[in-house]
Amino acid sequence: MSSVSSPPSASLPASARDHHQVLIVGGGTAGITVAARLCRAGVVDVAVLEPADVHWYQPLWTLVGGGRAPLGVTRRSEASVMPRRARWIREAAVAVDPEEGTVTTRAGRVIGYDFLVMAPGLQLDWGEVPGLDAAVGHGAVSSNYSAEHAPYTWELIRGLRSGTAVFTQPAGPVKCGGAPQKIAYLAADHWRRQGVLDRIRVVLVLPADSLFGVPVWRRALERVADRYGIEVRLNSEMTAVDGAARRLTLADRSTGAEESLAFDLLHAVPPQSAPDWVERSPLAASASPYGYVEVDKHTLQHPRHANVFALGDVADLPTSKTGAAVRKQAPVLVANLLAELAGERGGRRRRYDGYTSCPLVTARDRVLLAEFDYDHNPAPSIPLLDTTKERRDMWLLKRYGLPALYWHGMLKGRA
Ligand SMILES: Cc1cc2nc3c(=O)[nH]c(=O)nc-3n(C[C@H](O)[C@H](O)[C@H](O)COP(=O)(O)OP(=O)(O)OC[C@H]3O[C@@H](n4cnc5c(N)ncnc54)[C@H](O)[C@@H]3O)c2cc1C
Repeated sequence: MSSVSSPPSASLPASARDHHQVLIVGGGTAGITVAARLCRAGVVDVAVLEPADVHWYQPLWTLVGGGRAPLGVTRRSEASVMPRRARWIREAAVAVDPEEGTVTTRAGRVIGYDFLVMAPGLQLDWGEVPGLDAAVGHGAVSSNYSAEHAPYTWELIRGLRSGTAVFTQPAGPVKCGGAPQKIAYLAADHWRRQGVLDRIRVVLVLPADSLFGVPVWRRALERVADRYGIEVRLNSEMTAVDGAARRLTLADRSTGAEESLAFDLLHAVPPQSAPDWVERSPLAASASPYGYVEVDKHTLQHPRHANVFALGDVADLPTSKTGAAVRKQAPVLVANLLAELAGERGGRRRRYDGYTSCPLVTARDRVLLAEFDYDHNPAPSIPLLDTTKERRDMWLLKRYGLPALYWHGMLKGRA
C-alpha cells in the first residue's frame, strides 16, 4: 500500500494511472468534501470518478420551488468545485469488486484503488409509483427533487387560486426528510398572503405516524400545519397517479384502504434507493431493503472491507440523509481513512454521532432549525438561539448563510 507521500498520480505512466491511492466515487456534496479534506491533509493521489459537468446545491431547490430563490444560484460547474490536486475521472461507475479492489466504469475501464470512498448519492425511483414518471413536469404535477422540475413547482403554486393541492412523501428514506412538507408550508403561506388560502384544500400525505420524529419539532410543526388549515394524512402514501385525469390514489399504510383523490396541483416526492449497481454490489447492506452501502454507523467504514468507506446519501445510516449530515461525516471518515493509510490498525477511531440537520421552512421568511443525533437528541450547533421556534434569522441562514458555507467552506475542506 502506498504512503501518504507517494508521488502524484499525474506523473505516473498511463497504465499505472488506472490505480489510485484513494478513489472517490461521486463528486457531489460528499465526494468533493472528502476529496478536498484529503488533499488538504497531503494525500497526493486522490481521484474522483464523476460523470456530471454540473454540481448542484440541492438544499435550495425547496426555495426554488417556493419562489424564494432562482435555480441558477444552486448550480456551479463541476470543474469549479473539483480540488485542484485531485484527479477528475469523468466517467460513471457501474460495478465495484472489493475483493480485487477495483471499480469498473461505463466505458469498460477498470480502476484499482488502495482505498475506496463510496459517495454516488441515491437514485430517484420515479417509476415505482405508476403514472408518476409520465406525469411529472407537465399539467399539474411537479417535484422539487429534480433541478429540471423545481422551477415548475413555483409556476404551479403561483397559478393556483382555488382547488385541491396535494403534497406527498413516499415510504422509505428520502433526502432531507423535511423537504416534502416544507414546500407545502411555503405554498400555503404564499396563498395566505394572496388571500386565496381559504379557497384551497391543502392535503399533506406522509408515510410516518407523525409530522416529525423528534417531539420538540413535531409539536412546532403541528402548530404550523394547523395555522394553515392543512389536512395531514399520516400513515399514508400515494400509490398511483393519473396526470392527465388529475387524480391520484392514496393508500392507508395501516389498513391498506385506498382512496381516489382529484387534485389541481400535486407536488410529488419519488421513492428513493441506492443506485442499482450499488444495490447489486457486494458492498450493499443485506439488511437494507433499499440497497445502501453497509458501514459501521460510527466509523463509516465497511464492516468486511476495511479499505472501503461510505458517506452521504448512499450510506446505510439510521439518520436523515442531508448535506448537513455529510458535513459532520466527512471529517470523521477522513480521519479514519488517514489512520488506515498510516497503517494504524486497530487503534482508536473517530466516531460520527448521527448528527443531521433540517432547516424546516415554515413560511416564506421563517425557519425552524432541527438538529439532532442518532438518538433523536437535539444537537444544537448555534449557541443561545432557540431554534425550536420559527425564526427569521434562521431563514436568512438557510437562504444565504448555508449556501456560502457550502461553496466556500465545506467544498474547500475547511468547514
Ligand atoms: C429538494 C431537496 C431538499 C434538500 N434540502 C436539504 C436541506 O435543507 N439541508 C440539507 O442538509 N440537505 C438537504 N438536501 C439533501 C442533500 O442535498 C443531500 O443529502 C446531499 O446532496 C447528499 O450528498 P451526496 O454527495 O451523498 O449526494 P449528491 O450530492 O447527490 O452527489 C452524488 C454525486 O454522485 C454522482 N454519481 C451518481 N452516479 C454515479 C456513478 N455511477 N459514478 C460516479 N458518480 C456518480 C452524481 O452525479 C453526483 O454528483 C435536500 C435535497 C433535496 C433533493
